[in-house]
Amino acid sequence: MKPLIVANWKMHFAPAKAKEVVLEILKLSEREKIDLQKVEIVLAPSFTALNEVAQALKDTTVKLGAQNCFWEEKGAFTGEISPSELQEIGVKYVIVGHSERRENLGETDEMIHKKIKTVLNLELAPILCVGETFEERQKGIKDYRLMAQATQAFEGLQIKPQDKIVIAYEPVWVIGSGQAVAKEEAQYTIEVLKQRMIDLFGVSLVKETTTFIYGGSVDESNIRDFVAFPSSGVLVGGASLKAERFVKLIKKIL
Ligand code: PEP
Repeated sequence: MKPLIVANWKMHFAPAKAKEVVLEILKLSEREKIDLQKVEIVLAPSFTALNEVAQALKDTTVKLGAQNCFWEEKGAFTGEISPSELQEIGVKYVIVGHSERRENLGETDEMIHKKIKTVLNLELAPILCVGETFEERQKGIKDYRLMAQATQAFEGLQIKPQDKIVIAYEPVWVIGSGQAVAKEEAQYTIEVLKQRMIDLFGVSLVKETTTFIYGGSVDESNIRDFVAFPSSGVLVGGASLKAERFVKLIKKIL
């Protein structure tokens, strides 16, 4: 399986700037002779920039991601965005349950479960973010918290072999801190999450459908730590915002 690199651009770029950054990434990759087909790259801009980015990515292997969606496909839900609208624009991956949404918007595990269900029904790939806070870690309940988040997100869903699921371990206290966790810790935690998914769905279904990745202060100096183990993949915030830096980061693992 190809390593997965997801760029979460959060609320940083309006459409024109997002397009500029995409074109720069493509230009630099070509100049550096980077074969983008060797990696699965997902760019997740703001909703307003999705269309521009989709146009810019036409005829490339780079995929379009969204940072969130609503859990219904249609209806009277003012201000929300349906995953089927995202699908029409060309979105393939949807980030669900990012800690900034859990924290700032009160997104609950129940809402996250409903979103994942709808995303999977539409044959899009959810990228579920799970992670412990610093307090949860200090209390010694990190693994428990992560297993609970994964369980509540997926328990009761009918997963099919053709589904594509990504689970990103993102320690909340590490995001944007500039200091990633040690690779052994990311590896151990991903094994804990993998085991939980295996308990829910069985070994072969998890092997076929689910990719486990790490996110939290990944940059060009540490990316190799997180794509070296079988989980293979990273979710990148800050280090994906400048085309030159992002391309450097991709180059490190090729
Ligand atoms: C994130 O917000 O998901 C993230 C991983 O950010 P950063 O890489 O900046 O820590």
